[in-house]
Amino acid sequence: MGTAPTFLNNFKRGYAVRIKPNEYFSENGQVATDFPKTLTLGRNAFVYFKTIPDWDKFGHFCKTTSRKDWDEVVELYTKSSTVPNDEQWAGQYCLFIPNTTPKRISHICGTANNSEYLESLRNKYGLRTIPEQTGLGNFDYDYASESEIKKIKYQLSYMIFKVSGMKDYLINVFNSTSKEDLAIGIQRAINTGKVLEYIDKVFGHVEKYCQENALLNFESLSEIRAWDKESGQPICPLCLKGLTPDKFFEVSAQDEGREEEDNTQAEIVLMHIRGLRPGELNHHTYNLGWGHKHCNTIQGAYDIKDTILLLRDIITNQ
Ligand SMILES: [Zn+2]
Repeated sequence: MGTAPTFLNNFKRGYAVRIKPNEYFSENGQVATDFPKTLTLGRNAFVYFKTIPDWDKFGHFCKTTSRKDWDEVVELYTKSSTVPNDEQWAGQYCLFIPNTTPKRISHICGTANNSEYLESLRNKYGLRTIPEQTGLGNFDYDYASESEIKKIKYQLSYMIFKVSGMKDYLINVFNSTSKEDLAIGIQRAINTGKVLEYIDKVFGHVEKYCQENALLNFESLSEIRAWDKESGQPICPLCLKGLTPDKFFEVSAQDEGREEEDNTQAEIVLMHIRGLRPGELNHHTYNLGWGHKHCNTIQGAYDIKDTILLLRDIITNQ
C-alpha cells in the first residue's frame, strides 16, 4: 500500500491496486481513515473478496445507499491503444469465493459463462463484446514489458541450445514424434533429410538476435550462476550442476506414492536468481536461468543467495 508512484510508473499499461476488504472498510463500513487518497476504486484500485468471513463482514457495505452504483470488476477491453488504461476496466469490487454455495466469482476471475450476465454487461457498458478477462490479473512482480519478454525468451532459448547433446536430442525428438504434431518447417526438414540444418538455422537466428541485443554476456550469466564459462553451458543456479537435454522434455508427475527415486529432478524449470516479490520487477534478462524443479522448490520465493545461506544454516545445525 505504501508503494511509491515512481515504481508504479513502470507499468506501461497502467496498474490497479488490489485491496483487502479490511484495508478499505472500517468496522462500520466507512472508508478506513488510513486508506491512501491517491487510490480511487474503479480507476486504479479495487476491493478483492476471497473469503467467506470477509464477505459476511464487509460484503453488504458494497451495496449501501451511497454505494448503489458499485459494480463487480470487469475488463472492457483486452488491449486498446485508444482507450486510456484506467478506462479499460470498470468496477469497484471483485469476488473470488469458490468454497461457498452458490460460488461467488466475478466474471474477471474467469468462470462466468452466464450469457444473461454477459448481455447485461454489454448493455451497461455499450460494448458489442465483453473481451477475455486477461490483463488486470497479472501481479506486479510478474510484469515485464513486451520487448523485455522477447529478450528473455531469446536468452533462455540460446541457453537451451547450448546444453550438451541438445541438437542430437532434438533430432531424435523430431524423428520419433508423429509428423502431424510437428511444425510445418520441421516436417519439411524431415522430408528432405535436413533436420540438423533446420536446427542450426533456428539456432543461428537465436544467436544473432542475442548478439544484437547484448544477451550473451557470459561473464554476467556466470555471475548470476546460470552459466558455466568453462564448458559453455547453462547450469542450475542453485546446485550448479549441468543440465541434460532429456530433463527439458520429461514432464513426469511426481505425486505422492508414485515417485520414482531416480526421477526426482526430472523437470527443468525457469528459476529467478533474485526472487519475484511485490515492489520489484525481477522478471528480466540476466536474472533468469534453467534449473532443476527440485532446486526451484527448495528456493521457493527466496533469492538464490539467501537460499544458499539458509541451506548452510540447516547443514551447520546438524
Ligand atoms: Zn539444481
